[in-house]
Amino acid sequence: MSKTYDYIFAGSGLAGLSLLYRLLKEPGFQHKEILVIDYAKKTQNDRTWCFWEKGEGPFESLVCHEWARLRFFSPQVFKVFEMREYRYKMIQSGDFYAHVLDFVNGFSNVRFVEEKIVGISEEGEKVSVDTGDNIYSADYVFNSTGLFYPKMNEDNTLLQHFLGWFILTEQPVFDPEVGTLMDFTLPQDHGTTFMYVLPTASNMALVEYTLFTERVLEEKEYETALKSYIRNKLGVQAYDIKHKEFGVIPMSLARFPAHLGKNKRIINIGTAGGYTKPSTGYTFQFVQKHIGRLLVQLKQTGSPVVDPTFRERMFEWYDRTLVDVILNKRLTGEQIFSFLFKQVEPERILAFLANESGFLEEFKIRNSVPQFPFVYSGIKQLLGVGRS
Ligand SMILES: Cc1cc2nc3c(=O)[nH]c(=O)nc-3n(C[C@H](O)[C@H](O)[C@H](O)COP(=O)(O)OP(=O)(O)OC[C@H]3O[C@@H](n4cnc5c(N)ncnc54)[C@H](O)[C@@H]3O)c2cc1C
Repeated sequence: MSKTYDYIFAGSGLAGLSLLYRLLKEPGFQHKEILVIDYAKKTQNDRTWCFWEKGEGPFESLVCHEWARLRFFSPQVFKVFEMREYRYKMIQSGDFYAHVLDFVNGFSNVRFVEEKIVGISEEGEKVSVDTGDNIYSADYVFNSTGLFYPKMNEDNTLLQHFLGWFILTEQPVFDPEVGTLMDFTLPQDHGTTFMYVLPTASNMALVEYTLFTERVLEEKEYETALKSYIRNKLGVQAYDIKHKEFGVIPMSLARFPAHLGKNKRIINIGTAGGYTKPSTGYTFQFVQKHIGRLLVQLKQTGSPVVDPTFRERMFEWYDRTLVDVILNKRLTGEQIFSFLFKQVEPERILAFLANESGFLEEFKIRNSVPQFPFVYSGIKQLLGVGRS
């Protein structure tokens, strides 16, 4: 009879490796039989994760730069703000993969295989993972592959797509203490469009051309926008592109199932579990929060199933409302974020977008944007109209 693992990790990207690492830090789980399946070797520095949090997070030692001061620009608003509690942080995925894999290599009970998963199914109290060549079995599967993604299309999903360049300039032109969260002073012909600029030194910055629209652009369009911004807005004439990253993140009204199977033995984590925030595309901090709760649950009950709290459902409704407003073109992202940054203290906006605000702040935030589009979309989302 083939071996049954305690846990199979289907996918070993951000969510899979975060959970694996944090699980193996717990003495009660260090002896578990674990199989990790991914078709890709996690050796590339394939993405840069930025997020904000208060205090130190579980991967603090990997933070390569952080900012206490951020900027927001739009044709109507210009704000530079100092955060009291939050810090905006950057982690390179290459550092993250290397750190986690180095730690995990010390465990002989964790096995890695490089195979493509074609199916995952619950069979009674076990779960089978099929890779075409092999079938593996476990008590629980933590899935972060796209196998169970819901149907996404132009009616229910905006894409956050971006091309980012790490540029090294000849002259010291940046202030590494201040990041630009959103610069909307750009043509908005395609839809919500902004630049994101994160200087890590006086001559080095990540400059990212970002859009929230239904379709991705031709590669050339991102490049033209980046070149023009770097030359005309940043005033930089001479630079080298040290690293490039392109990404597409779903901002969707479609529902990502948190778990599957009658006995809830397939646990979706990461984007697959709905931990990409629909209204912003940020995922890192929500993955870590989910994993934190999952581990508490696992230790207390032996089950990793985490049900959303009332507050989480409320934030999900805010998210869906915001996506519905932009998707149905009732307001643009530039208009919404300008209203917010004009009237609400920026750190409170960040608290709201981190699902960490209080009722009073949410009341202020709701009042800072035009009521009709949000009430309309909010009721629609509450009633589940057009839900998929
Ligand atoms: C370029 C880029 C930049 C981003 N920047 C940020 C950011 O700054 N802040 C933020 O919060 N979020 C960011 N995100 C969004 C999000 O954090 C990442 O997409 C994150 O990696 C999602 O984690 P995950 O574990 O769900 O998916 P992934 O990290 O993509 O992991 C999924 C894993 O499953 C494997 N896999 C998939 N299908 C199969 C299969 N059939 N069989 C075997 N293995 C499979 C993949 O190889 C991969 O390793 C970014 C995304 C991209 C693409």
